[in-house]
Amino acid sequence: MSSDFECYLCAGREGRRVADTDAKTREPLRVMQCTGCGLVQQYPLPESRELHVYYSHHYRLDYKRVHKPRPKHVHRAGVAALDRVGFLAREGIRSGRLTDVGAGGGEFVFVASQCGFDASGVEPNLGYSAFARDAYDVEVSTAEVGSLEPGSADVVTMFHVLEHIADPRAALRSIWSALAPGGHLFIEVPNILAADASPHNIYFKAHLFYFSAPTLAAVADACFERVAVQDHGNLLMLLRRRDAPLEPRLPEASEVARALRRLDEKGWTEYLMRGQGWRKPIARWQRHRVEARFEEVPPRQILSELIGERNGP
Ligand SMILES: [Zn+2]
Repeated sequence: MSSDFECYLCAGREGRRVADTDAKTREPLRVMQCTGCGLVQQYPLPESRELHVYYSHHYRLDYKRVHKPRPKHVHRAGVAALDRVGFLAREGIRSGRLTDVGAGGGEFVFVASQCGFDASGVEPNLGYSAFARDAYDVEVSTAEVGSLEPGSADVVTMFHVLEHIADPRAALRSIWSALAPGGHLFIEVPNILAADASPHNIYFKAHLFYFSAPTLAAVADACFERVAVQDHGNLLMLLRRRDAPLEPRLPEASEVARALRRLDEKGWTEYLMRGQGWRKPIARWQRHRVEARFEEVPPRQILSELIGERNGP
C-alpha cells in the first residue's frame, strides 16, 4: 500500500504498485492500481492537463513535417478500420456525421466515408493530418479534441487515444458537447484485463491509463451510457450520449475484486496458455507474407481494394 497516491477515478488513497519499468526503454515507471475502484494508472500523472497525444505518439515525426506511412501500416490500419465500421454496423450505426478524434493518417476517415458516413477527423500532428488530406482527399484538420464544434457530430470515434490523455474525463466532456442529442461515442483502448498481452509488453510511459470495461465505463459514466462492449483482446465500447451529465457511478465491488485478481494472474503461463501467446509468431509470419504484396501500391488503392474485398463481388 502507498499513502503517496490519489486515484484519478475515485480519489481513493489506497493503491498498489503493478509495474516499475517501461516495457520499451526499461526506464523507471510508476504504475499503480487503486484498490478501491480497480483503475490502473501512471502515478503521478503528467502535470499537463491537456491532450497528451501529440507528445506521446507523434512528436518525433513532427520535425520532418511529412509523414509517409509504410504500405504495411496502411494495410493494417485499413483492416482495423473495416472491423470498426463492421462493429458500428452490427449496432445499427451505418451513416451520419462522424468525427474521428486522433485520426492519425486518416485511414479510418477514408474507409468510413466510403462505407456510408459523412466522415471527418481531427489529428494534432501536422505530418499525419497533412498526409491524410493528400493521400485520401479527406477532411482531417490539424487540431485537438477541444476544437470540435458543439453539436457537430452524430458519431465520434476515438481509437487508441484515451489511454494517452492526462484528463480523460475532460476530453469526454468535450466530446459530449460535440455530439448531437442521442449521438454515439465509439472508443477502442488496450484492455488491461485481456489475457493475450505479453507480460513483457504492457506498461509504457506513453500510456497514462490501463482501462478495463468497468473502469472505462466509469470514466465515461457522467456523460455517456454503455451500449455495447467487446473485451476479448482490445477493449471496444460503444456509448450513447446522455441528455444531461450526471453524477458518475464507480465500478461495483465484484468488478473491483475481479480487476485485482486478474492483475495478480498476469504472467507468462496465462499469456501462453489462456492468451494463446504461442500462436503469435505464426500469425506474425502469415501477416508479413500478406503485407509483402503491398510494397509498391499507393495508400488509397490499398484501402479501396480492402473495401472491395470486404463488400464482396
Ligand atoms: Zn480508484
